[in-house]
Amino acid sequence: MKILVVEDQSRVGHFVEKALAEQNYSARIVGTCAAARDALSESPYGAVILDIGLPDGDGLDLLQEWRSAGFNEPVLILSARDAVEDRIRGLNLGADDYLAKPFSVDELLARVRSLLRRHAGAKTSVLVHGSLQLDLMAHTVTRNGVRIDLTSREFSLLELFLQNPGRILTRSLIAEKVWEASYDMETNLIDVYVRRLRRKLEESPDRPLIKTIRGTGYELV
Ligand code: CA
Repeated sequence: MKILVVEDQSRVGHFVEKALAEQNYSARIVGTCAAARDALSESPYGAVILDIGLPDGDGLDLLQEWRSAGFNEPVLILSARDAVEDRIRGLNLGADDYLAKPFSVDELLARVRSLLRRHAGAKTSVLVHGSLQLDLMAHTVTRNGVRIDLTSREFSLLELFLQNPGRILTRSLIAEKVWEASYDMETNLIDVYVRRLRRKLEESPDRPLIKTIRGTGYELV
């Protein structure tokens, strides 16, 4: 498994490389957006660890480019501890997780393992609901064969619904399954994401796909 590490602080880069190597991942470190673009176009990587502040640009712009070009492997962004907006923007652009600097090796490795496990576990099947198909291996969603673009988080949320059709999913269950430890129950992010899924997936408002269960959560119908 090759992992691309985009990090301009060489001390951090080497520390990450060493930690990954000890777990038998082979890491390649690049320090600029330009070098990262080259690396990803030259060979396949199973995951990317992406710093946001890079000398020749913004890591999140790279992420956006890659996701819109169809790069579906997991991306973990590294951000300064207080940069909440960067994290939210990163997640919205299709990052799978983030880690605040400074971080511990153990935490980094745990996050990487979890991302890769989720990704590998996903390589089994196609979930179908009416005309909707979610391909866990190709990481694509289609309706009547027409591709629908979802962000990584929207995809995970839809996956959870498709695995539990007709079952009421509470907000706390959704938070736990889709956001894991990173969800703040004080926010209305789940509602925002459900609204986006509806907008992208429902063919007409009188044929709802996701029903709101007031005060509780949502149900795929
Ligand atoms: Ca940096």
